Amino acid sequence: MTAGNTETATTCPYCGVGCGLRVSRFGDAVQVTGDPAHPANGGRLCAKGSQLGATVALDNRLLAPVVDGVESDWGTALDRVAERFAAVRAEHGPGSVAMYVSGQLLTEDYYAANKFMKGALASANIDTNSRLCMASAVAGHKRAFGEDTVPCGYDDVEAADLVVLVGSNLAWCHPVLYQRLQASREDGAGPMLVVLDPRRTATAAEADLHLAVSPGSDTTVFNGLLAWLAEHDSIDQPYVDAHTEGLDDALAAAGPLDLAERAGRCGVSAADLASFYRLFADSDRVVTVFSQGVNQSSVGTDKVNAIINVHLASGRIGRKGCGPFSITGQPNAMGGREVGGLANQLAAHMDFEADNVDRVRRFWGFGAVAGAPGLKAVDLFEAVGRGEIKALWVMGTNPAVSLPRSQRVREALAQCEFLVVSEVVPDTDTAAFADVLLPALAWGEKDGTVTNSERRISRQRAFLPAPGQARPDWQAIAGVARRMGFGPSFDWAGSAAIFREHAALSAFENNGARDFDIGALAALGDDGYDALEPVCWPFPEGGPPAARPVDIFADGQFRRPGGRARLVAVNSAGTRAATDTTRPLMLNSGRLRDQWHTMTRTARAPRLNRHAPEPCLYLHRADARRLRLVADSLVRVRSCEGQADLRLKLSSSVGQGQAFMPMHWSGPYASSALAGSLFAGALDPHSGQPELKAQAVSVEPL
Ligand code: SF4
Repeated sequence: MTAGNTETATTCPYCGVGCGLRVSRFGDAVQVTGDPAHPANGGRLCAKGSQLGATVALDNRLLAPVVDGVESDWGTALDRVAERFAAVRAEHGPGSVAMYVSGQLLTEDYYAANKFMKGALASANIDTNSRLCMASAVAGHKRAFGEDTVPCGYDDVEAADLVVLVGSNLAWCHPVLYQRLQASREDGAGPMLVVLDPRRTATAAEADLHLAVSPGSDTTVFNGLLAWLAEHDSIDQPYVDAHTEGLDDALAAAGPLDLAERAGRCGVSAADLASFYRLFADSDRVVTVFSQGVNQSSVGTDKVNAIINVHLASGRIGRKGCGPFSITGQPNAMGGREVGGLANQLAAHMDFEADNVDRVRRFWGFGAVAGAPGLKAVDLFEAVGRGEIKALWVMGTNPAVSLPRSQRVREALAQCEFLVVSEVVPDTDTAAFADVLLPALAWGEKDGTVTNSERRISRQRAFLPAPGQARPDWQAIAGVARRMGFGPSFDWAGSAAIFREHAALSAFENNGARDFDIGALAALGDDGYDALEPVCWPFPEGGPPAARPVDIFADGQFRRPGGRARLVAVNSAGTRAATDTTRPLMLNSGRLRDQWHTMTRTARAPRLNRHAPEPCLYLHRADARRLRLVADSLVRVRSCEGQADLRLKLSSSVGQGQAFMPMHWSGPYASSALAGSLFAGALDPHSGQPELKAQAVSVEPL
């Protein structure tokens, strides 16, 4: 897909839609357009993607390793990392070392990091910022399907009769998928659209029905739908009998329909709730798309299973235009799941059952590998704070900003015995605490693969030279592993060799036990890898390429005992967060249209900064009046955890009693406006995903 020397086909580094791009270079100028041949976007782009060319300048790049605050070289830096990791591990055991990685990593870097930690160092203390993104979806999939498998593709969204968006501002957060959805609705023949969101977002404003549900009440809504389906003879009994178990228990947990009482608990009218239920029951093909509004919750996994339950009970899964569809926030959240980048996964979609541990150990060739799950993100940093984890390597992420309890995270980083940070810029909030800073390659310089929300593996190709001493992350990991005596296991010639090993592991003694099997790609030569077209797993019979995702559960067979999916009994309790007289507003956090994460890239594009030039708190006019707050003035937001100062904006998109603030601003841009400083880190008990959508706060003039 490379035309001449000037045009490169690659993949967008932002959201989980995973759009294909064509990048042209004219001297120092870089022009980015949508790749018409890429199945995810067919040439479409959003504002962030189209401004990528404005973000590749080299100013403020980290161009050389820094050791103890002094510019250094790779040999010195890697010697130091290897020596400290080896010493800490020898003295305090494998549990005293850890890595915290990122959905921004390419699959090859992710694979190397996971093999280093769970293999070479036999420590499962490697987690990822994807814990903040979709860990509840992973846990929900495993409870229902026996495996973390997303059963939908983007063309299912277009083929549905009804699309339900839950906790997803698709128009801003996954814009090209939203464009595809709206294009399919243009002539009036496409899917109806129902949006469940406490805010009247840009997406909700375009919906046929917007249910402005109370924060955290999604389980109540979907348990009510399950009860409605049962009461209105809309359970697909043959499907349930043949392919599922647990319906009776799930119905008992869902409780009586009682529309008026249920609607009251959800904060919507009984008529609107009934309209939604009727629409669902009357639509043959339904896709329920869910995102961070569902996952980033202290009850996120139960919400996910309440959604999956209604699809299983009504047989709306495993066929075109049907299914529960978790869409990921980051470009390679799915690739991280494939390699086992979560602390509770081992590798290649295997968990820590004894057979899997032995299988992976034999494949990797180590005497021992990690045999039990490690610490999940929030717990991992708590362990750093307690001094139990003494050596930590942070790669491609900024936990001092993005994690809840950000002040505690900073205190933990400050007292960590040995902290390594791999970054592209030197001045992130997390990098400030590093003993060793390692210069990483950025998008456009690094080379590998990513997997998007519909299980589509695409190549990210380099079109810029590596600046200064910057290197791929996998090379930094291999360099440390070599120095620690694990050289032969990390002796890769390039990213193609890592990908082949990753593909081979997915097929190793798999025999159809797991859907994630890309073994057919293990035979790719370097040229074949370079030319790899986007492919979706699992591959149809005969191997890749797959033009569209296969209907993964079309045979009604799930990876659970007896092949049956499980309807999980979940009770209807909402989020555990509660307001009171001292903190009367429920704070929600999320993305803006034109910024990405902690803004290290998007803030470089002047056009993107125009959309929202500063961090603001959005409140309903009635709440501002009641609290005697003046529009556009500075206000202080306080929670039980901390405080943040922002400019107040009045917005009818936010319901009364609620507040919204963006997640993006951090150190170089606005150090006192951190969303993470306000959230207290309530965790979902199944996924370990922290609550970032509901926190009781007060607001006062500054
Ligand atoms: Fe990039 Fe997502 Fe926009 Fe596509 S929709 S161009 S992947 S940010």
